[in-house]
Amino acid sequence: MTQPRVRIAPSPTGNLHVGTARTALFNYIFAKKNSGKFILRIEDTDLERSQNSYEQNIYDSLKALGLSWDEGPGVDGKYGPYKQSERFDLYSKKAEELINNGHAYYCYCSQEELEQEKEIARQQKSDFIYNRKCLEISEEKKQQYINEGRKPTIRFKVPHKELTFNDLIRNEVKFDTSLTGDFVIMKSDNTPTYNFAVVIDDIGMDITHVIRGEDHISNTPKQILLYEALNCKVPEFAHVGMILATDKSKLSKRHGATAVSEFVEQGYLPEAFVNFMALLGWSPPDGEEIKSLDEIIKLFELDKISHAGAVFDKEKLNWINGLYIRSLPLEDITERCKKYLKNYDLSKYSDEKLKTIISELRERITILSEVTEAAACFFNDAITFSDEVKENALTGDHVKDVLKKFLELTEQLDFNNSEDIEEKFKEFRKSMKPLKPKFIMMPVRATLTGQLHGADLSSIIYILGKDNVVSRINKYLNTL
Ligand code: GLU
Repeated sequence: MTQPRVRIAPSPTGNLHVGTARTALFNYIFAKKNSGKFILRIEDTDLERSQNSYEQNIYDSLKALGLSWDEGPGVDGKYGPYKQSERFDLYSKKAEELINNGHAYYCYCSQEELEQEKEIARQQKSDFIYNRKCLEISEEKKQQYINEGRKPTIRFKVPHKELTFNDLIRNEVKFDTSLTGDFVIMKSDNTPTYNFAVVIDDIGMDITHVIRGEDHISNTPKQILLYEALNCKVPEFAHVGMILATDKSKLSKRHGATAVSEFVEQGYLPEAFVNFMALLGWSPPDGEEIKSLDEIIKLFELDKISHAGAVFDKEKLNWINGLYIRSLPLEDITERCKKYLKNYDLSKYSDEKLKTIISELRERITILSEVTEAAACFFNDAITFSDEVKENALTGDHVKDVLKKFLELTEQLDFNNSEDIEEKFKEFRKSMKPLKPKFIMMPVRATLTGQLHGADLSSIIYILGKDNVVSRINKYLNTL
């Protein structure tokens, strides 16, 4: 294959959606696998709905996921500009070219007239197909419309035929183009429609493969006809199945987070999220789902992507994220957790101890933001006890005795040595026999953390250090 040029062309009318991110990922993988180029183009022709903040969100989200573009905004290539709003001249020129060679024409029909036609179609329960009223209007009529102040749109004259293309994922796809009305390519305000701009840009940027969501498949015949009318080589098309919610409907905001930035903010690791997204519609041939992006690139085949919808399974995402949290280097995870610990006084602990805290907590969290609550007992000295904790851990005649004896034990512990603590705490539990371990562990844990479960108890003792441990136990004993 000659070096492919693929693109992702999001519209900045919302934050980067996981569906677009997954399409970006497949494009990126395809480009890397085939030593091609991955291009980012911003489709901001809808000036009213496009916003700078969304555009920024698209850049930030793609960068966060590690999907850096070879050409696009901020990364110059010779095919720029990479924002449609900066390419407006091009579209008018090309539209004129189509008018001059008979492939397009001005349409002066007003919105009201078109609405009436649509209403008639609705009543007849048929699809609206533009009646070509303006295809051959007289000069006189045209002048009359102009005098009335009507601003024309430009419509493409759709050639009627059976159109077949070979989709790289769906194989042969057929369309009867006589069912496609002459569609507008330039609006009356002289801005291009999506179908026109996308073709002009894909031609202008030498795009070889258009890999995008299945929701665009009905646009493809229109676009192919435009390529043909412009005498340009039609790129390969690959339409990827949609991402569905667990109820099999299209994934949308009512199902929860849909923007990549929301997931990143919650503490999904970009590596885990990329791994998860790659599995939405693609399965590794070796059946081993946990893979780095580099490994995925090696094994990926475009034609192995499923054309069926892929369910966005949040539990699976959580599972994958948890695996990454536990397996990435501790130092790295500790650094990433700091963002979620910013309300705590981190200087309370040495770097080494902070790593110990994270190494304990990462066994129990699925997203990084959970570390805030999980770490609370190490940073908040005012321990409170819920009724549940009081009932299950701090009730019974043994409690006071256990805590007092534990306080004595603290005198013998080397608080700089976690192994010593573990060893002596074990002996302590034995020495308290016949009292069951649970009746020793529970009061100590509850008094030190206010919780019934959590990190390994001897680790907690080590992390808190002597002063904290002694003061927390004493504070509680004083209330008895
Ligand atoms: N702006 C379009 C979208 O975000 C691009 C579609 C395409 O790839 O052609 O859906």
